[in-house]
Amino acid sequence: MLNALLNFVYPPSCPGCGARLPIESDHRVCAACIASIDRILPPFCSICGEPLRSAGSGDLCIRCRSAPRRFRIARSIARYDSSSETGALGAIIRHHKYGLDQSLARALAECIGRTLPFERGHHDLVAPVPLHRTRLRWRGFNQAALLGMEVARRLEIECDTTCLERVRATPPQTARDHNSRRRNVRRAFRVAHPDKIRGRSVLLVDDVMTTGATADECADVMLAAGAVAVDVFTLARAL
Ligand SMILES: [Zn+2]
Ligand SMILES: [Zn+2]
Repeated sequence: MLNALLNFVYPPSCPGCGARLPIESDHRVCAACIASIDRILPPFCSICGEPLRSAGSGDLCIRCRSAPRRFRIARSIARYDSSSETGALGAIIRHHKYGLDQSLARALAECIGRTLPFERGHHDLVAPVPLHRTRLRWRGFNQAALLGMEVARRLEIECDTTCLERVRATPPQTARDHNSRRRNVRRAFRVAHPDKIRGRSVLLVDDVMTTGATADECADVMLAAGAVAVDVFTLARAL
């Protein structure tokens, strides 16, 4: 009832293209924008999920071949070009990042689509990549947590936003290479509640993964706290 009233007063528009959505529609992203999402299909790196040009190159990307990962596997829904102003997913991620519109939780869920790249029964817990508390206060919400709740709902497991904590506000990841990015996030995270993680298989959730430096760092502290394994789900993969 309230939703219907809000939709009438503020007709919802697609964050991807700005098109008005029909008042009676439950959707938060238009069908054209959903169809334009550049979904990641095989072949991709069997560890980090990075798309590969051809199958058969040992099934691993250059980075995963040269250095071990701390997470077990990472999978993303779609490619994301952070330098491009066009593309529905980018618009949704940026809008989401800098806006305060909670209905974007729904938009993100629609971008994931019907199937997750992870099946039920393999994880005990979803842990979203946390924001530093000053950033969280400024932004009002953590988009990774909104995604994490959606993922946890589908996997029928708990989403815990307290076990992992960002203890250092890091400068934005602007470097291109993995090692500089990894240095940038070193000692930025800690496990606040090791009891929630010990002996458990964790699915780390974030909106975008670039080289995987943040994911590696989070996996590192969670494994040190006794996690059995850490896998990673991100909506987008910046390439
Ligand atoms: Zn649209
Ligand atoms: Zn890889």
